[in-house]
Amino acid sequence: MTLPSGRRVALSADGERPDEPPAGEPRALFEDALDAFESGRVTLATTDGDPLDVAVLALADFHALRAVLTHAGVLHEEPVDITCGNCGAELSASPCRDLEIAPFVDGELDDPDLDRTEPFDTPLEVDPILVGRVRQARTITLAPRTVGDAKRLFSWAISPWDPLDAGVVDALGLRAVGDVTEPERLAKVLTDASDAAKRGFAEAWHAAHYPPRLAAYAPCEACGARATVDAPYDRELTAWLDAAPPEAPARAFVSAEAFADRAMEMADALVARLPEPARAVAVVIEDGTPDVDEGGAPLMGGYLPPSDASHGTVSVYYRTFRAMWNEDGPYDWEDELRETIEHELDHHAAFLRGHDEVDDDERAAIREEEARAVGLRESARRARREAQGSARDFLRSTWPLWALVLAATLYTCATNR
Ligand SMILES: [Zn+2]
Ligand SMILES: [Zn+2]
Repeated sequence: MTLPSGRRVALSADGERPDEPPAGEPRALFEDALDAFESGRVTLATTDGDPLDVAVLALADFHALRAVLTHAGVLHEEPVDITCGNCGAELSASPCRDLEIAPFVDGELDDPDLDRTEPFDTPLEVDPILVGRVRQARTITLAPRTVGDAKRLFSWAISPWDPLDAGVVDALGLRAVGDVTEPERLAKVLTDASDAAKRGFAEAWHAAHYPPRLAAYAPCEACGARATVDAPYDRELTAWLDAAPPEAPARAFVSAEAFADRAMEMADALVARLPEPARAVAVVIEDGTPDVDEGGAPLMGGYLPPSDASHGTVSVYYRTFRAMWNEDGPYDWEDELRETIEHELDHHAAFLRGHDEVDDDERAAIREEEARAVGLRESARRARREAQGSARDFLRSTWPLWALVLAATLYTCATNR
């Protein structure tokens, strides 16, 4: 298989698949994964068959291996409880189980977004971190780290509220916070940082070591929305992320009533501009759980063409507008609202004309997005299986690792020919 750095390796595993988490208190983060390699239960080799020590791997490569080994059932995965951002239902996710691993097997790790990590040795922007009594830094600079380099980090991260020392700073690869570069001072700056600053640091640090491809969709059974969950979920600084949830904006979003009033005003004006036969369209302001698109994303607006029983209907979803405000901060909601109603009325006009190209494009864009996560070759294989009437999604079920290795070998042979 191919790892995020581009390194190609052969993996094999023997023995049992653990149903239970490892017994006893862990002495270090990722102990189960490191034990699997050290005990020889999992072996790692170059594509020429020479043994490869996991300690020399870049962290991103190690984390991708953790994800794949967990996906294959070699490492235990504890389900993650999350709340659906669309309807509030509780759901349980197993992100490694649901991770799309074909792009690793097929060596398709060149997506400009999904495979991009933040660069090393370049200042990365972060939320302000206090570096003096009042002085704040807004950048951090990180160096690449191998598994061997990060061992001190793994043991410290078991109790992430303990003070850091220069050893942990080195294991993090932290070179600078603003203009502070001295390791002892960096340790103190991070130890004393506010929860919000720790959260910002953790986000930037993870973004340098985990490509966004290491995530899976968790579908909500209640409303059909999909959450994106990190795979593996446990990361070096996860505790720092969870401790300080981002704050909602101080100014609350407009009430459902005021929103609906404004929306109806706009809708009346926009519908009046349509040619006479197209004006028979209903506009509904929905303040319940928003419907989602085919990709599981909550909708701002939707359009249902006319049927024998009813007019065409434009729906506008108050809660999606409110969620955008609470998650990403204040924005010009009236502008977005007008654009949404116009957009849905365009669908209506196109439907009446006989063909809705925009709808075709939107569906194609969702399929394209799916294909990026699944991988091109795997998408083609799935389409083929579906065509053969055997749409058994066998990569998603727990796939024995030997099959994975075999597949990797076969595709390598195929490429070399
Ligand atoms: Zn939901
Ligand atoms: Zn549309």
